[in-house]
Amino acid sequence: MAYRVEVDQDLCISSGKCISDLPTVFAFDDDQLATVINTDPAIADALLLRLARNCPGQAIILHDENGELINLDG
Ligand code: SF4
Repeated sequence: MAYRVEVDQDLCISSGKCISDLPTVFAFDDDQLATVINTDPAIADALLLRLARNCPGQAIILHDENGELINLDG
């Protein structure tokens, strides 16, 4: 994974979508907010991009290897 993935928990609406799509990376914490549990480099950037775009709270934040924010609208 070249992308670095984070969840902005202030935006997470606890839909569970990212967790059902990729349970090896996302999980609910004790407050039922998504959190990143694994940053396996084998996970494809394209998959992370799709999940970030499909997040109903726009809470999944991606940065590239240089720390630049990935534009999810592209
Ligand atoms: S898809 Fe988005 S809103 Fe839903 S649980 Fe994951 S981070 Fe939260």
